[in-house]
Amino acid sequence: MTSHDDFMAEALKQSRLAARDGELPFGAVIVQNGVVISRGRCREARRNTVLAHAETEAVDKACRKLATSKLKDCIIYCTNEPCPMCAAAIFQAKIPHVVIGASRDDLSFIRPRKINIQVLADDSGYEIKIERDILKQHVIDLFKHIG
Ligand SMILES: [Zn+2]
Repeated sequence: MTSHDDFMAEALKQSRLAARDGELPFGAVIVQNGVVISRGRCREARRNTVLAHAETEAVDKACRKLATSKLKDCIIYCTNEPCPMCAAAIFQAKIPHVVIGASRDDLSFIRPRKINIQVLADDSGYEIKIERDILKQHVIDLFKHIG
C-alpha cells in the first residue's frame, strides 16, 4: 500500500522539475486505484499563460487519459494549496479527495485569499475530503530562496 507521503513525493518531483525550468516550484499528481495516472507542474513562465498551473495540467492530462471530464474515483496530490482557478478545475472534475503539502498560510509570500479551497469545496455541491500538511516541510524548503 502506497502512502500519502509516497504520492506527495511524486508531486514534489514535479515541483523540482518546475524549479529547474525557472518556474515556481509547484507540482501535482493524480492517483487512481493506487496508481499515478497524471503529473503536472507549473509551466506558466515558459508557456506564457496563466492557465499552465500544476493542478490544471494534471487534471487535463487525467481527463484526456481516462477519456472523461469526471475524475470521481481519483485523489489529487498538490504540493501547495491550489489557487482558486485550480480548485475550481479540481471540483469541476468532481475529484473527491485533495491532499495538500503546504497551505497558503505556511508561505508568507503567497498572499492570503478570501476565497480559499475550503470555501470552493463547500460550494461544490458534493462531498470533498481535504487533507493538509503532507510532507509540508519538504515543500516549504523548496521556497526558502523565494519571496
Ligand atoms: Zn493554480
